[in-house]
Amino acid sequence: MPTIFERIISGELPATIVHRDERVVAFRDVHPRAPIHVLIVPHRPIPTANDVADDDEALLGHMFVVAARIARAEGIADSGYRLIVNCNRDGGQEVYHLHMHLLGGKPLGPMVAP
Ligand code: AMP
Repeated sequence: MPTIFERIISGELPATIVHRDERVVAFRDVHPRAPIHVLIVPHRPIPTANDVADDDEALLGHMFVVAARIARAEGIADSGYRLIVNCNRDGGQEVYHLHMHLLGGKPLGPMVAP
């Protein structure tokens, strides 16, 4: 079964795409937790952070490069933002296709709820 993100990447499901290249797609989160909430998703469907391999190092670096580019484009590079990768149950992962959250546009408060 393809994940919801694979279906967005293939164009089967709609999304507000803010960046697309040969390695990643970035689109706005459907339930934004901040004024800017973008998901950066590799085409390759890596299920979780546990599944990254040596071959993925360049891809993971590229996700950071794209995140910084989107942050600049969204006007939050200087005010700041947060990048999050959730893993498995305790990490609160909902979609088992590795992705990076880019959140910003307001002070985000403590990193983890007490
Ligand atoms: P995570 O908990 O890290 O797996 O985050 C999954 C994120 O995907 C959540 O923030 C959801 O709001 C978001 N999401 C789920 N379905 C969609 C969708 N169809 N379009 C955009 N974002 C989605």
